[in-house]
Amino acid sequence: MLQSLATWLRALGYDCLAGPELFGRRLLEQAVAEERVFLTRNAHLVNDWPRALVEQAQIVCVGGGTLPEQLHEIVERYSLDWQRFLFTRCLACNEPLRVVNKLEALPHLPPRVAAREDSFWQCGRCGRYFWHGSHVQNSVTRLRRWMER
Ligand SMILES: [Zn+2]
Repeated sequence: MLQSLATWLRALGYDCLAGPELFGRRLLEQAVAEERVFLTRNAHLVNDWPRALVEQAQIVCVGGGTLPEQLHEIVERYSLDWQRFLFTRCLACNEPLRVVNKLEALPHLPPRVAAREDSFWQCGRCGRYFWHGSHVQNSVTRLRRWMER
């Protein structure tokens, strides 16, 4: 239910588990085991789960109805720095990105990117390469609009 929020929290550089392979009670069990905050839109969801598990969990019911509202709510609640760690984590894998030099990235880049960009990052899990192209600038513009209202 909060997949977009999870993706944006990763974009901000924060460690955030989500995904179709992990949901409901299993996700809550993992949150407890790893001392993570469990974000949900449905406060009643936990009524069906074992009380002992729920009592150990740190469950936050996200109130905002839209993605900008949800993101704003979590950033405020946990005093997250929404600028400092931007795009330091793979959006797909949640893995922190490592800096790679241009020579290493070159064989994997579209020619127009290779000609224009000099800084590159790679995900250690999925192997994808990243750079700060127009998609990043567009995301930053959108994020700034959401956070500064
Ligand atoms: Zn990845």
